[in-house]
Amino acid sequence: MNSSFNASLINDPFGDPGLLVQFLFQKRAFLFDLGDISVLSNAELLKVSHVFVSHTHIDHFIGFDRLLRTVFGREKTLTFFGPENFIKNVEGKLAGFTWNLVDRYEESLTIKVVEVREDKLLKGTFRAIDKFEISEEEEVAFEGGIILDDLMCVVRAAVLEHRVPCLGFSLQENLHVNINKDRLESMCVVEGAWLNDLKQAVVEGKPDSYTIEMPITRNGKLSLERKSLGQLKENLVEITPGQKIGYVVDTIYNEPNSKRIIELVKSADIFFCESPFLADEEIRGQERFHLTSHQAGTMARDAHVKKLQVFHFSRRHMAHRERFYREADNAFKGSREASPLAAKG
Ligand SMILES: [Zn+2]
Ligand SMILES: [Zn+2]
Repeated sequence: MNSSFNASLINDPFGDPGLLVQFLFQKRAFLFDLGDISVLSNAELLKVSHVFVSHTHIDHFIGFDRLLRTVFGREKTLTFFGPENFIKNVEGKLAGFTWNLVDRYEESLTIKVVEVREDKLLKGTFRAIDKFEISEEEEVAFEGGIILDDLMCVVRAAVLEHRVPCLGFSLQENLHVNINKDRLESMCVVEGAWLNDLKQAVVEGKPDSYTIEMPITRNGKLSLERKSLGQLKENLVEITPGQKIGYVVDTIYNEPNSKRIIELVKSADIFFCESPFLADEEIRGQERFHLTSHQAGTMARDAHVKKLQVFHFSRRHMAHRERFYREADNAFKGSREASPLAAKG
């Protein structure tokens, strides 16, 4: 489906979990989880504006240092979201380095942290210029699950069980702006970066009288023409509902928890769900507070998602990569059936 963002897993399913969401017509990206991010380039990391951390087990948070190393010394604000105790975790990370030379830098990094609890959000800010001492601490009421609401999209979080609180996320694009390529040609308009400005103006809800300059070729001659947003919307733009993605890792399958997950990822276009264990390892999954392939598929089906992508497979099963996909897919597409363990009696 058409979308203004591109979501892809950072690593192989046996590697550290994480998702990179790149906005196609903005220099911006989101990261879901912060494990091993060594495959990402500095250019990709410099686009990251928001990081959503499910929990701070090492495979989900070891990448903090790499990201910090890349963005440090730049005028930039990064916002991090994480579960209970997250402000302390970030504070601890930052306290692990010596910051006596920060005043030699002209640009200053700002790290905003939002700790998501059941009924409140705790906030704090760490600025390089302050040697990353915490400031602007506040506590706000939290209802409805929305942790980020901007022009492009809404991000929701649900607090899930993993012996420790672990956040599941959904990302919903507000609307999708598409350019009619055939009309572009018939109007002799030249494609280029100005189309991103056009899409951005539509998303931002700029007035129809707002004007945009566009390049046109007539008789082999290139010229610039100014058109109103209203005209361009009528001639070139198609608006469709936005894409939704779900991201759930490190959690247990039980009734209250799966209810929360299903509610969170309902009707998602793509659901990224962990599956460390195979279908016949339900007991092991319960002991470790993780999902099996079958449970991931069952929740995806119950949530009526369009596509399921399982990942975060246990390395013990390196030889069974295809089984994870097959079992998850069977549960996702198959009819309602008892779990493999219950079936065995
Ligand atoms: Zn974990
Ligand atoms: Zn994990």
